[in-house]
Amino acid sequence: MSAIHDVVVVGGGIFGVTAALELRRRGASVVLLDPGPLPHPDAASTDITKLVRLDYGADAFYTGRMEEALAGWRDWSSRWKRPLFHETGILFLCSGPMDEASFERSSFDSLSARGHRLERLDGRAIGDRFPAWARGRFVDGYYNPQGGFAESGAVVAALAGEARALGVAVREGARIRPLEGDGRVEGVVLDNGDRVSGGAVVIAAGAFTPVLVPELADRIRAIGQPVLHFSPPDLGPFEPPGFVPWTADIGRTGWYGFAAHAGVVKIANHGPGILVDPAAPRRVPDDAEAFFRSFLRDAIPSLADAPCTLKRLCLYCDSFDGDFIIDRHPTRAGLVVAAGGSGHAFKFAPSLGGWIADVTLGAGGAGIFRFRWRTLGDARREEARFTGAS
Ligand SMILES: Cc1cc2nc3c(=O)[nH]c(=O)nc-3n(C[C@H](O)[C@H](O)[C@H](O)COP(=O)(O)OP(=O)(O)OC[C@H]3O[C@@H](n4cnc5c(N)ncnc54)[C@H](O)[C@@H]3O)c2cc1C
Repeated sequence: MSAIHDVVVVGGGIFGVTAALELRRRGASVVLLDPGPLPHPDAASTDITKLVRLDYGADAFYTGRMEEALAGWRDWSSRWKRPLFHETGILFLCSGPMDEASFERSSFDSLSARGHRLERLDGRAIGDRFPAWARGRFVDGYYNPQGGFAESGAVVAALAGEARALGVAVREGARIRPLEGDGRVEGVVLDNGDRVSGGAVVIAAGAFTPVLVPELADRIRAIGQPVLHFSPPDLGPFEPPGFVPWTADIGRTGWYGFAAHAGVVKIANHGPGILVDPAAPRRVPDDAEAFFRSFLRDAIPSLADAPCTLKRLCLYCDSFDGDFIIDRHPTRAGLVVAAGGSGHAFKFAPSLGGWIADVTLGAGGAGIFRFRWRTLGDARREEARFTGAS
């Protein structure tokens, strides 16, 4: 039987590592468990880049949270040896006029109303400033000079290093078994049968969370999303400022991507994805490359025939409403769940640890309303109560 920790954190992705660090900063003794090594190659947080954007359509809640987190990214970057957050700005492209209902228009309007200075662009300006894009293909949009991308895997590695330095017991090679029983949670059991005890247990296992906390299986799903890297012989045309992280009619098509980084240009699609078993071998669908190349042929022709040097299936931990779940289990004392990143949580990294520590160490109800423990039924009842619908 190992020492009793104040908090056992399960999962060394961005939810878990930021939680471990913040809990330790607040004086708790913490052990962080992960099959490792950290950053884990299969973790959603482990990648060369992730978008860090303020732009959240008309959703003032996430926009406000991102204003706080962006300040955190700038602070982190100022104290890291090498900046792992690159504020290149982000380009939001529309193939037609930015109409009222579009993600781009509602982002533009809500950010402008909050005092953020954005640069509206027409087709000519897009072609002149960002020449790699097919001229005339996108006729409206804007450039937001704030935001950019984070080197996500390197960020997890840096934070894990800080956690170790602060005294977090980081245990790699430690996979836990699904939680059993229905009473108070006083620890976890590892695959090898060892018990790790703690006053509280935080499950932050990403897409594996519903495997470990089965009662979440009706509201969290593992969704596979292909990510492809292209290696054009000349990266110059794909480097800032002439080429920055971008979205292209993302509300309708899901397309987004990054400037050249680590020798490649990464492209991804925030689409419906594929429902998967998180433990199953990760397989990118055979038609993914053709699908990506058809987009490139149409939008970024000079990249369409570049060698594809990596195909990866990364897993979203999708909650039924797209909001995170950071809360105490309603009936199992000692258990906290921090998951449901739903394809958009990494950018909140500077704030995640604080949100999770508030719930773990704070009095009941210390969490954020939109991240509370909820069911589809709750959401519907909430909706009905809110809209007066029966
Ligand atoms: C394709 C893709 C693109 C994305 N792009 C963006 C973006 O541009 N911007 C953005 O903000 N967000 C983005 N996201 C979302 C973001 O990556 C996730 O929301 C976030 O990284 C989730 O972090 P996590 O800690 O919950 O999960 P993970 O990073 O998956 O970490 C979970 C950890 O739990 C561990 N674990 C699993 N089972 C066990 C067990 N039994 N015992 C112990 N440990 C266990 C795993 O090893 C892993 O290290 C993207 C996600 C994907 C998939």
